[in-house]
Amino acid sequence: MKKISILGLGYVGLCTAVSFASKRFKIIGVDVNSEKVKMINEGKAPIYESGLDELLKRSVDSQMLHCAEDCGYAVRNSGISFITVGTPYRPDVSIDLKYVKSVAKSVGNALKNKEEYHMVVVKSTVLPGTTEKIVIPIIEKHSGKRCGLAFDVCYNPEFLREGSAIKDILNPDRIIIGEFSRQSGDRLESLYRDFYENKLPPVIRTNPSTAELIKYVNNCFLAMKISFMNTIANICQEIPEADVTTVAKAIGLDRRISPLFLNPGLGYGGSCLPKDIRALVSFSQKLGYKPSLLKAVEEVNILQPYKVVRLANRLLGKIRGKRIAVLGLAFKPNTDDLRDAVSIEVVKGLLKENAEVVVYDPAAIKNAEKLFKDKVRYASTALECVSDADCCIIVTEWPEFKALKCEDFIRRMRTPVVIDGRRIYDPEEFSRKLIFAAIGLGVL
Ligand code: NAD
Repeated sequence: MKKISILGLGYVGLCTAVSFASKRFKIIGVDVNSEKVKMINEGKAPIYESGLDELLKRSVDSQMLHCAEDCGYAVRNSGISFITVGTPYRPDVSIDLKYVKSVAKSVGNALKNKEEYHMVVVKSTVLPGTTEKIVIPIIEKHSGKRCGLAFDVCYNPEFLREGSAIKDILNPDRIIIGEFSRQSGDRLESLYRDFYENKLPPVIRTNPSTAELIKYVNNCFLAMKISFMNTIANICQEIPEADVTTVAKAIGLDRRISPLFLNPGLGYGGSCLPKDIRALVSFSQKLGYKPSLLKAVEEVNILQPYKVVRLANRLLGKIRGKRIAVLGLAFKPNTDDLRDAVSIEVVKGLLKENAEVVVYDPAAIKNAEKLFKDKVRYASTALECVSDADCCIIVTEWPEFKALKCEDFIRRMRTPVVIDGRRIYDPEEFSRKLIFAAIGLGVL
């Protein structure tokens, strides 16, 4: 079996690497971050992701995964390379392709002296046209070879969700192949046939631009569901006794709607949804079309984190000088990722009102320390976080917060005021036993 090289070992690259290695594919991982490479070769995961530690250790111990900093070595010693580098946005919200361009250049240089045919698969999220107009020309320029002859390129978006990344890679809903030529699509589909054996999900084959667009449209649709439900939550909040969770449950039973992604909360965050929606808005505007619906989705999301700050103000009178416990910082449970997490806006909002902020997260404290520095206090457990607090705000729905009882708050807090930003508590019980408010829960 041909070796696979994976270029960029972040959430997508590393999880892809260990998933392939777990099915006995030989993997060479590459990253420019030497510390990351060293850690991975020692079997230690640089990120928190469910099931990753164990699978990584197994992959390294069984010698199915080995990492290096040298992209050339990896390309020369593999038959197929996946590009999984980051595509963050610049301050002007355009997508930053510097990592994609740099890795494409390295692949091109490596292919210059490689005699065998090579396959390149772009997995990073890039705007329509990028693979054909940017990646392929860079590889052709630096290799001196033609795409479709000495090498081929496909675009193959990744849909994993952080927190369940490995599970998602092993059981995807579908595989999208944006093929430069029929031959390249056949080769990639055949790799996935070997990988999934008799569990191959539906495969959609199309041109690279359509495949690139599919990734954005997918994320924009999910973001739209979230902003839609948060809009309804904000309306419910103004109607005495209305509860958005019951509304969501009821409409979710309509098969045309589906119950997924209807949870009201503080908005979407993370490294993908905010970035991808902004990129598609800006891309569309450059094409001359103003995507009003997508802009509204974004606007709702920008304002949503401040709802809990306003609720805290309403319940406490003024929050200046009050101690506010923030439970949850990661953009979602089961990850340590703080990129564009709504917790950042919540903490900023509280600090702006001169509150004393104490934070706790089961996985993201190390990342939070780099971000908030000494502006907040860090607790090492949820119970320590709420101790002596005047108010507690639930920002991320970690399972351990769901397990907290009313009594845990009542016994430890200075004043038992709980604001449920993720709708994890029973409003009837909490409202009876302590001072309680929640997103999308109308007050009397
Ligand atoms: P990340 O920032 O966590 O990781 C990217 C890695 O690439 C880093 O380790 C970086 O050091 C490395 N890198 C940068 N330049 C390199 C180079 N020239 N050679 C080798 N390595 C290099 O990114 P991520 O979250 O894994 O996302 C990767 C891509 O996948 C992005 O385009 C993202 O939008 C997309 N995506 C992400 C997710 C997600 O949940 N994180 C899901 C689907 C798609």
